[in-house]
Amino acid sequence: MKDLPGEWKDHQLTVALRIRPLNDAEIEEGATTVAHKIDNQMVVLMDPCEDADNVLRANRSREKTYMFDVAFDYAATQEDVYVATTKNLIDGVIAGYNATVFAYGPTGAGKTYTMLGLDSEPGIYIRTLNDLFTAIEDSTEDLNCSVYMSYIEIYNEMIRDLLNPSSGYLELREDAKGEIRIAGITEFSTCNAKEIMALLTKGNKLRTQESTAANKTSSRSHAILQVAVKQKSRVKDINEEVRVGKLFMVDLAGTERASQTQNRGKRMKEGAHINRSLLALANCINALSEKGGKGAQFVNYRDSKLTRLLKDALGGNSRTVMITHISPASSNFEESRNTLVYADKAK
Ligand code: ADP
Ligand code: MG
Repeated sequence: MKDLPGEWKDHQLTVALRIRPLNDAEIEEGATTVAHKIDNQMVVLMDPCEDADNVLRANRSREKTYMFDVAFDYAATQEDVYVATTKNLIDGVIAGYNATVFAYGPTGAGKTYTMLGLDSEPGIYIRTLNDLFTAIEDSTEDLNCSVYMSYIEIYNEMIRDLLNPSSGYLELREDAKGEIRIAGITEFSTCNAKEIMALLTKGNKLRTQESTAANKTSSRSHAILQVAVKQKSRVKDINEEVRVGKLFMVDLAGTERASQTQNRGKRMKEGAHINRSLLALANCINALSEKGGKGAQFVNYRDSKLTRLLKDALGGNSRTVMITHISPASSNFEESRNTLVYADKAK
């Protein structure tokens, strides 16, 4: 393994915030913008509560600021977000290190837009893969390099292959080297960006989405694009893998609370499962965010499928990027506040 690329070690955890533009439905219902970017790191959230006396009596300020490593608002392009969060992970992954990028936030806040995007506005998945292929092509090292991808969802603590849903539920296995693998997963290998976008868009439509009171297409599953860069020496005769770097790009399930969505029965159980993965993830990230990553020794990866799968790509020599998403609308104030408080704790 090569030395850690510059800055890799100093940026074990990066927390970003993206505030999407106000959408038509929010404008129509008369919502105002309550989340503003102040500068490249600071955002302010304003309590739209009209009962100012009540706010004062409760000794609360109507405005609260939150700090991030980087903050984006409606003006940010897909390229801006990609460059500031993910692009600088590519060299490390090619050098054999692992990294994870999460999209976090409530349903409708823009997670899938950031990760998958649209054909006309591709997101982090495609931009990362394009740059990865270019970097490998331009590499002067004597290595034979191949990129393998798989795309799965974790729903109710069960794993499904989004590229081959008929394969049923898949199991996590630990191999002799202690590496976590998904038994029976489809791995595809292509450098054709259009083909990849089509595969991922199709896979995304297969995600478990069921209507809730809060939103008609709330994503109840975590979608994970796993990219492995495997390299073999061209000069040596041995057919041994010399280097593997993994990058996980995760579109997390919506973080809205079970109580908020008035769910009962199946939905409640689902909520509990989603929270189990999110909670385990939160615990991992909190541990990692402790100074110098010292907390990492207390990380319990076994608590959920998500954290087990990401075990080698959270903490240690890995880099983690969390992109938090919120709506700017007054009508989503409570949800945005909960999200910001969580993301703030992650730092
Ligand atoms: P989530 O995945 O968090 O539930 P989506 O990514 O599906 O949310 O976003 C909800 C809607 O808002 C989609 O129609 C999406 O295209 C749009 N949207 C989200 N973020 C942006 C953005 N930054 N710019 C323009 N449209 C956006
Ligand atoms: Mg989504």
